Amino acid sequence: MQKQRSVAFHTLGCKLNFSETSTLSRLLEHEGFEKKHFDETADIYVINTCSVTDNADKECRHLVRRIQRNTPESLVVITGCYAQLKPQEIASIPGVDLVLGASEKFNIVKHLSELSKGDSAKICSCEIDEVTGFNASFSANDRTRTFLKVQDGCDYTCSFCTIPKARGKSRSDTIANVLENVKELAKTQVKEIVLTGVNLGDFGKGPEGNKKNNEDFLTLLEQLDEVRGIERYRISSIEPNLLTNEIIEFVAKSKKLMPHFHIPLQSGSNTMLAAMRRRYKRELYTERVAFIKQLMPHCSIGVDVIVGFPGETEELFKETFDFLHSLDVSYLHVFTYSEREGTDALNLKPVVPISIRNERNKKLRNLSYMKLQYFTQQHVGKQRKVLFEKYNKDGIMEGYSDNYIRIATPYRKEWANEIVEWVI
Ligand code: SF4
Repeated sequence: MQKQRSVAFHTLGCKLNFSETSTLSRLLEHEGFEKKHFDETADIYVINTCSVTDNADKECRHLVRRIQRNTPESLVVITGCYAQLKPQEIASIPGVDLVLGASEKFNIVKHLSELSKGDSAKICSCEIDEVTGFNASFSANDRTRTFLKVQDGCDYTCSFCTIPKARGKSRSDTIANVLENVKELAKTQVKEIVLTGVNLGDFGKGPEGNKKNNEDFLTLLEQLDEVRGIERYRISSIEPNLLTNEIIEFVAKSKKLMPHFHIPLQSGSNTMLAAMRRRYKRELYTERVAFIKQLMPHCSIGVDVIVGFPGETEELFKETFDFLHSLDVSYLHVFTYSEREGTDALNLKPVVPISIRNERNKKLRNLSYMKLQYFTQQHVGKQRKVLFEKYNKDGIMEGYSDNYIRIATPYRKEWANEIVEWVI
């Protein structure tokens, strides 16, 4: 009898990567592979990389070195965005055996069956324009919440972003398929599904890129709302220009779509938004926030913002700061701009010195802290529904309210994986 091979995964980057790693892991377990923790000895190590994190290459090299040192005979497979963008560079890392680009990631079972430890790494990748298929994925390591990928790729051309080059054109699952996956998840203990994608609001484009399925994000939400057995949905992130009033109205009246939006802004200055090639002006963002708050005063709103983009003078940064200060939002995710090979932003001047980028990051993180305190304070004494996770972390359990306020309380078994009426 053939010995059962073991596999360990490590994920760098976003929720989309986590959901894809989960799916890859399930694919291999289904084929008889034994799943190991990344710190344990395994026959195969798979690293799912990211192109957005600053140190993708450094982290990847570091992990491969560690594997080489501990178990030099193990196979090392690298996949994910960085593998699609820089296959040659990754293949040259000593110890790497296989590089899987975006089109080959989900053919991992076949590739592993043909792989043995050799001298040079094999690259299985194609040009990103040829990547048009869609593979549904969901994470299932935490049985309380799961991240369900319903869309991939992006047709936008933001001047700082490499994601379209790593993930290809915008394409989506069909609503019928999503519903099927959700009905399967409803049979498990999962209580909350977080809808994920690269550009989620662009949902509806079929696997052949621009050919429309004649479906859209609002219709997806309306149909998900009808599925029995799933109590909560969250929208991971949606571009402001794609967040329509109809979507906001639907979320406001739905019992299952949580009052929580994450809306990338990136800058509060119209000059910077134009340089970033974003598809809206700050006035549109203000309108969206106002409409959400008019219908759902308790709604949590998270904002992505980039500091230190080329051309961001002190005055333009102040515009962003003042804009965010005045907006009724709940928290910020602050990113420090960093140069990415192959992006148009590299040609923009003047470059902002790193020390100033870091300073601006700190200022916005402080603002975010204050925003979150203020938002939470507004709800103290009010009753909200909290979904508690099942983990007992040193006697403490944690959960999120419908409007994304994090709650920690002494562990009670009967609350694990349950929605509890809670006074904040
Ligand atoms: S919308 Fe812009 S930032 Fe977001 S993935 Fe597409 S190109 Fe990148």
